[in-house]
Amino acid sequence: MSQTMTAADQKSPKPKSAAPETKGGDRTSALGKLPSDIGTDYSFKRKIVWKNAIGFLILHLAALYGQYLCFYCHKATVLWATVVAFIGAEGITIGAHRLYSHKTFKAKFPLRLALVILQTMAGQNCLYIWVRDHRQHHKFSDTDADPHNAHRGFFFSHIGWLMSRKHPAVIEKGKDYRYVGFGGRSAGDVPEEVSWYYKPLYTFFAILLPISIPIYFWNETLTNAFFVAYIWRYIIALNATWCVNSYAHLWGTKPYDQFILPVESHFVAFISVGEGWHNYHHAFPWDYRAAELGSKYCFTTFMIDFFAYLGQAYDLKSAPYNLIKNKALRTGDGSHFVFKNKKTKSPEDKLMDGSYLVDPEDEKAYNVGSSLVERSKKILPEVGQRAMTVQG
Ligand SMILES: [Zn+2]
Ligand SMILES: [Zn+2]
Repeated sequence: MSQTMTAADQKSPKPKSAAPETKGGDRTSALGKLPSDIGTDYSFKRKIVWKNAIGFLILHLAALYGQYLCFYCHKATVLWATVVAFIGAEGITIGAHRLYSHKTFKAKFPLRLALVILQTMAGQNCLYIWVRDHRQHHKFSDTDADPHNAHRGFFFSHIGWLMSRKHPAVIEKGKDYRYVGFGGRSAGDVPEEVSWYYKPLYTFFAILLPISIPIYFWNETLTNAFFVAYIWRYIIALNATWCVNSYAHLWGTKPYDQFILPVESHFVAFISVGEGWHNYHHAFPWDYRAAELGSKYCFTTFMIDFFAYLGQAYDLKSAPYNLIKNKALRTGDGSHFVFKNKKTKSPEDKLMDGSYLVDPEDEKAYNVGSSLVERSKKILPEVGQRAMTVQG
């Protein structure tokens, strides 16, 4: 992988592939199609990677044993495992997802370093591969070029994609992301370098550190520490993240875009610390909140606001009121908590009568619902104000 990490590559989002760039793509070949035309070939038979399938089965059985041990081990071990799962999840949601995959804000060196360490602690592969797969997921959502195409069902988009050979379209389209840089790289940045040493860092931060603390500080047994603070914690957090790819692409409402699979899910938002407002996120992936104002369980957004208050995060991007409203009215399924009138007027009528523009009554109702911003304003006055504006 190291040859893919030159400074020149990092500056350029384009692949340094030997193949000539074909503008518009070759639409005559299955793999040269535009993202929206790729679709899903249901006759395609996947080859199971038995090594991965058996590995995941063993890990889940071990996690069940860890669940059993939770009732008998030191209570502090369960608490510690939960804390590790939680901060690892923040490394994924704030770091790998909102900072590195989508560049929804910028972060200073200490925050970037902390996020990369926490992302490593979560054990969801190195940052580079996580970002590559996620950007591909957004560009080719729910087609054969999406690594976890939800059109293939819950099991496949949840875990099945990790235990079967990739579809040729995933491999082909993934080449465009082979050299994708993290962007905005400045002197002293670390993430890519950390990605090179993922395995030793994973061994330390995801295994040794989590199991050493309970043994050292409250004399936990090695067995309890291993199965609870490592295996159980790891598998629970993995499944919470996978639910964003599976559950949040299948069951819920689509207030912003009814023509895509991702949905709004309270359940997934709760277990993934705010990543379940997935219809919004796919509609506005560059919004640091990954949810509209007022959505619940957005702890990750709250943390980014907090880091902004501390000066560690800056240039937060968020979608303006009018853009959200117009999107909801134009393509939503009518389930938006304020903008529900799309079925009563055609888009043309709405353009003509100006109902795409800000309506004071709508805005009032909208702000009453935006508890997150209200909370932000109380706790962090400047950040709450910033969350209401577009940062570019
Ligand atoms: Zn998605
Ligand atoms: Zn995303």
